[in-house]
Amino acid sequence: MQLVCLDLEGVLVPEIWIAFAERTGIPELRRTTRDEPDYDVLMRYRLDLLKQHRLGLPDIQQVIAGMGPLPGAKEFLDALRRDYQVIILSDTFYEFAMPLMAQLGFPTLFCHRLETDREGWVTAYHLRMPDQKREAVKRFKDIRFKVIAAGDSYNDTAMLGEAHAGILFHPPQNVIDEFPQFPVALSYEALRGEIDRAAARIGDA
Ligand SMILES: [Mg+2]
Repeated sequence: MQLVCLDLEGVLVPEIWIAFAERTGIPELRRTTRDEPDYDVLMRYRLDLLKQHRLGLPDIQQVIAGMGPLPGAKEFLDALRRDYQVIILSDTFYEFAMPLMAQLGFPTLFCHRLETDREGWVTAYHLRMPDQKREAVKRFKDIRFKVIAAGDSYNDTAMLGEAHAGILFHPPQNVIDEFPQFPVALSYEALRGEIDRAAARIGDA
């Protein structure tokens, strides 16, 4: 059986923190791991900002629901799920992603989780495990799936390398330059074409 593992942000939905910063008018939330390489420092900074701006989880989810998936994402995913088993591997959090998952027909999502207190303030975050995208692909291979993975960014390249076939979707130029071994797709149509080509090449058994 062939399994397709897709990244979420930048592939099916917008970059959640960036879109959230734009919609709430809190530019400090645009800060990413490129500006602050220590992920723990970055997350604590983000959670502090949310509280300072009096944004509890229900408010956050309402903003995220308004973003919607990327144009064409739902149709792409629905068609893909007719021919492949699809699992979304993401470094986002269930509590953020769920309003968008509802709009995508609730595909299977493996990601991290947030902790909230009784008033709805986000108090902590919990990562499932380090390098979970790559670890998941490894385990799927152990139980004899042929795996095709697609993602848009640095944090996907370990998963792409671990899979039987890896595809970059709308990546930044530096990722294209650094990982020339992966084909690049710039539209859902092209991505579907690359997935089907990879599926034919790696086979099913
Ligand atoms: Mg991404």
